[in-house]
Amino acid sequence: MLLKNLLASFFLMVISFSAFAQNNKPKLVVGLVVDQMRWDYLYRYQELYGANGFKRILNQGFSNENAMIPYTPTYTAVGHTCVYTGSVPAITGIIGNGWFDKTSGRSVYCTEDSTVSTVGSNTTAGKMSPVNMWTTTITDELRLSNNFKSKVIGISLKDRGAILPAGHSANAAYWYDDKPGKWISSSYYMEKLPAWVDQFNAKDLPSVYMSKDWNTLLPINKYDQSTADDKPYENSLSGEKSPVFPHKLSTVTDAKKYSMFKTTPFSGTYSFEFAKAAIENESLGKNTVPDFLALSISTPDYIGHTFGPNSIEVEDTYLRLDNDIADFLAYLDKSVGEGNYLFFLTADHGVAHIPGFMAEHKIPAGNFNDDNLAKKINESIDSVFGIKKAIQTVMNYQVYLNTDLIEKEGKDLAAIKKLVIKMIKEEPFVVTAFATEDLAVTVLPQPQKEMMINGYNPKRSGDIQFTAKPGYFDGGTKGTTHGLWNPYDAHIPLLWFGWNIKPGKSNREVYMTDIAPTLAAMLQIQMPNGTVGKVITEVIK
Ligand code: ZN
Ligand code: ZN
Repeated sequence: MLLKNLLASFFLMVISFSAFAQNNKPKLVVGLVVDQMRWDYLYRYQELYGANGFKRILNQGFSNENAMIPYTPTYTAVGHTCVYTGSVPAITGIIGNGWFDKTSGRSVYCTEDSTVSTVGSNTTAGKMSPVNMWTTTITDELRLSNNFKSKVIGISLKDRGAILPAGHSANAAYWYDDKPGKWISSSYYMEKLPAWVDQFNAKDLPSVYMSKDWNTLLPINKYDQSTADDKPYENSLSGEKSPVFPHKLSTVTDAKKYSMFKTTPFSGTYSFEFAKAAIENESLGKNTVPDFLALSISTPDYIGHTFGPNSIEVEDTYLRLDNDIADFLAYLDKSVGEGNYLFFLTADHGVAHIPGFMAEHKIPAGNFNDDNLAKKINESIDSVFGIKKAIQTVMNYQVYLNTDLIEKEGKDLAAIKKLVIKMIKEEPFVVTAFATEDLAVTVLPQPQKEMMINGYNPKRSGDIQFTAKPGYFDGGTKGTTHGLWNPYDAHIPLLWFGWNIKPGKSNREVYMTDIAPTLAAMLQIQMPNGTVGKVITEVIK
């Protein structure tokens, strides 16, 4: 009797130990960043979503309903960097998609790298690497944690959406070159594309997708979350007379089709197809340690900028994305196994409504042009101080002064700065303007101030910052954009699903910077070396 009990408890121990050993780590981590997905899209289109996409994640996973971006400006490169580093532009160095570099006297692109070359095409689209990012990513830390046994791959139509999440030590990052319509990489990662990438490219799927027109997935009268199809404040696709369905993609047969493809929902499906090919051919999730796939779907950003959040095009894009996600999760269930992968979904930023649409409903909003602002102020400074081009450029809602020139010509820098601030403040769309180095002593509401301090990097930021009225942005009268502190740009979805995730929902405010440390806690590895976020404990089983 006693022996029997002893044996039974021994077997129980063995069983629970092996269960523990099996589930100690996930086989694969999948990060899915949906470019320009506002949090409200989870619910706005809910009636038309299927059961196995967003709804499956919401029902079986955990949703942080109030995940906020803790910095400005809310742009793509900054968002992807923050998700994967748990850090902010003041620390990562990625302060925008681009910035002005005073040392070289030119604008710099976030992932440009002249020391590397394109792999997979004969354009310059592959002269890219993460070299401008100063911190490690969660993907770097995963590689560092086990002597580089984990495989890390980044995939996105956009170079920055693939490169920054994959980190410095990635096995590969792939992005879309819209000249030849192919997935490419850079010599930073590899000498030549793997055979499976060449084979995938050889199928020329963009041409296949572009040979059919973009019609609505459902009968168009079902799209009751959106305004009428034809609106003067929507942009048209290249070659179209008006922005209406069906978008006649099949009439575009020249080389432009590969670039236009990005602004169709099929480029999202194409990205998921490539991700599946990567999982299969690189055997992701079949390793002795966790692998990491950093996938970013850029498509909704291209479409969102063009047609705006209240368009049938955006609604249709999310219905199709919902299907793509359902299909992708089913694929992961089959290839990695349900419960064996840890999946999270978030966005790099949201987006503002189109000012023209807001005007139709008497809601304040508007647009302005940074270059016109710079030109106007430069003319005034020239007439007062006798110096041309005192403002080098206006980028990321910051003014870069031509400090070297002003000093060389012996002009009064402080007086010029004062005049620039005064003139910006006079603009009707501006609330306030101040020297960036005076941020801490400027009177601003605390959340706004904190976001700007997190976004301020003395080595890369401009000299003067300005804030605009809510709903106003730098851009044209057609289409829309993002980049500001306002909730429509800064409130993002954050969903967790799969391995070790406790189903549930929380309205507690958390931040984009919390994602990387939460992953670090779950994977039992070091946080990235610039992380300022906190672990979201409630998502962990
Ligand atoms: Zn983006
Ligand atoms: Zn964008």
